[in-house]
Order: sequence, then structure tokens, then C-alpha cells
Amino acid sequence: MNTKPHLNDDCLFCKIIKGEIPSDVVYDDDFVYAFRDINPQAPTHVLVIPKTHIPSCAAVNADNAEILGPVFAAIAEVSKKENLSEGFRVISNTGKAAGQTVEHLHFHVLGGKDLSEKLIP
Ligand code: AMP
Ligand code: ZN
Repeated sequence: MNTKPHLNDDCLFCKIIKGEIPSDVVYDDDFVYAFRDINPQAPTHVLVIPKTHIPSCAAVNADNAEILGPVFAAIAEVSKKENLSEGFRVISNTGKAAGQTVEHLHFHVLGGKDLSEKLIP
């Protein structure tokens, strides 16, 4: 893969990737890191992030989109590790109006209970 790892000194999730801030790791490889959300909204609530600083979905482009394959492969691995075969939800809040609070691309993986059929409860 050509995507060069690039981390940002001022970013909370980059600091978690570097181990400067502790996290409860669920999955880790050369390109992707996954850890438990500190404020879980479901029995399983894992954040899956690329090990390169991309601010949000809105900043994905032809040059950096290659990272999304490994990210989604990691999401599938997390779902298996967490026994989410009944189903799970993947959310990526993008921008302030969508509730994004950390400006490093991340995918919430939520499961372990019946989730509402409504996209926005
Ligand atoms: P969002 O609001 O979509 O940007 O999601 C950011 C998520 O990061 C929230 O669900 C927070 O609970 C979570 N979060 C913030 N700080 C930490 C941390 N140090 N460890 C784990 N999760 C965190
Ligand atoms: Zn970052």
C-alpha cells in the first residue's frame, strides 16, 4: 500500500496511535487501530481509525482513499472478535453539524444489542 503513515502532534487519536494516551485496544495492524470508545453507546462500541491523519470522510480523496480497504477489513475483524454476527452498525460523524468531536477519521462500530431500525433514533 502506498499510503504513507502521517500522524499529527495535536490530534487526540494520533496520540492514541502513538501510545501517548492509553486506550483499550481491540485490533491493531500496520495501517489500522481499533479501541473501545471511552463513552460507550452500546455493549460493543469500538472506534476504528486509520494510522494516518485524515480529518474526516470529507477529506478522503483519490490520494488517500487506499486506506479505506484495510479500515473496512479491520471493521469486519472487529465484528468477528466481538461476536457481532447478528448485526452491527458503522457510523462516521462528519463535521460539526453531524456531531464530530475528534477530527481524525473514525468509524464507530456499535452492536451487542438490538439497534433501532431508524437511522437516527
Ligand atoms: P465523534 O463524536 O463522532 O467525533 O466521536 C468521537 C468519539 O471519541 C466519542 O464517542 C468519544 O466518546 C470518543 N473518545 C474521546 N476521547 C476518547 C478516548 N481518550 N478514548 C476512547 N474514546 C474516546
Ligand atoms: Zn489524527
